[in-house]
Amino acid sequence: MTIGSFNPFQMAQAQFDKIADRLDLDAGARGVLREPLREFHFGIPVRMDEGTVRVFRGFRVQHNDARGPCKGGIRFHPHETADTVRALAMWMTWKCAVVDIPYGGAKGGVICDPGEMSKGELERMTRRYTTELIEVFGPEKDIAAPDLGTGPEVMGWIMDTYSMYKGYSVPGVVTGKPLSIGGARGRSKATGRGCVFVIREAAKRHRIELDGATMVLQGFGNVGSPLAELIHPLGVKVIAVGDVHGSIYNGNGLDIPALKQHTDQTGSIVGFRESEPLDSSELLTTQCDILVPAALEGQLTGSNARDVSAKMVVEAANAPTTPEADAILLDRGIVVVPDILANAGGVTVSYFEWVQSLQSYFWTEEQVNLRLEEVMTRAFENVYLEAQMRKLDMRSAAMTVAVSRVAEAIHDRGIFP
Ligand code: NAD
Repeated sequence: MTIGSFNPFQMAQAQFDKIADRLDLDAGARGVLREPLREFHFGIPVRMDEGTVRVFRGFRVQHNDARGPCKGGIRFHPHETADTVRALAMWMTWKCAVVDIPYGGAKGGVICDPGEMSKGELERMTRRYTTELIEVFGPEKDIAAPDLGTGPEVMGWIMDTYSMYKGYSVPGVVTGKPLSIGGARGRSKATGRGCVFVIREAAKRHRIELDGATMVLQGFGNVGSPLAELIHPLGVKVIAVGDVHGSIYNGNGLDIPALKQHTDQTGSIVGFRESEPLDSSELLTTQCDILVPAALEGQLTGSNARDVSAKMVVEAANAPTTPEADAILLDRGIVVVPDILANAGGVTVSYFEWVQSLQSYFWTEEQVNLRLEEVMTRAFENVYLEAQMRKLDMRSAAMTVAVSRVAEAIHDRGIFP
């Protein structure tokens, strides 16, 4: 997969180079951080339901483990590439560092179309994928999580396979598990909730009154739907929403609880009452106070960034803004709250889940949400102060905070032997 003319890993490296230059990072740390620490590429033979064997391609990339075990999701997607996984692994390192949780970054993936596979085929593929990585995964080494095309069920299969090899239950090897085997309360809404805390803090700092402010949202899935649901009570009017099937508009604000019900029943936002259809090509340029891309990478590009009509863009998705669009938005004075900060709520609650799994002591949902609020508010404040102090945009400030923390850890550990 490429984003416009950009390969995501080259994009991630270019972002890193810019910050490394600014920090005058020494050649050693630069060399360590510019490339993944380790990569695993392998074939996954799976007996399909009709009796034939298909071989899928699987990856796990560990970018860095200086601050703690590697942490990152697993994607099952037909367009997965090694470079996408490498880029996402690097972004995980920065994301964990920016919210100051003790993890490094990793990502995994399998090139497959989960929508075309039976549950049995998916389970056999997942168990074989886990077996290939049995010495790589581990609560102290590399902890998996759900991402595109995977969810709690897949995490349950990974935890079970890993535990079977070890001979005892190891819940700390994955996060995003079902509640019955040690999942964290509040995890399913954590990314959206974390994003709402970030929006609240950013609005305060940029003097946007949330009560009555307008929002346009692309994506109404795991991230977008809870985000809309949780921002609604703050008085924010979500005036337009888009998903893979189309977009809808209501200038007075969409009734989010009713839209959620409609989506649960029909599988899409399209056709929602009290809304008019909107051409999806106009969604991201619809006038609003806060624009939230919460769907895919590479949505704000050199072609549409000049027409964005928002005061603030909050990146709930990973890499929704190409570097070209980033430069245009910066030039136009539009604040961009970067993905590594805005969507870090998910990995933060994953961290809470891991801590609970290791201690076999479980928190209430209120405790999880309160601690998430503390982490996200503090992270926003650190990044905002960095931006003010060094006169940086929010992405450069977040990257500066993250890269400095990882470089400090590398320095303090020293080089073995
Ligand atoms: P999801 O699959 O649950 O939802 C994706 C949403 O985007 C759906 O509403 C889908 O219809 C919509 N969509 C897909 N293609 C589209 C298109 N071409 N145009 C408009 N809408 C489209 O995925 P998710 O978990 O909500 O993830 C969304 C983004 O957030 C991804 O970039 C993901 O990497 C990132 N993210 C997710 C989490 C998490 O906890 N789920 C954490 C951090 C970052």
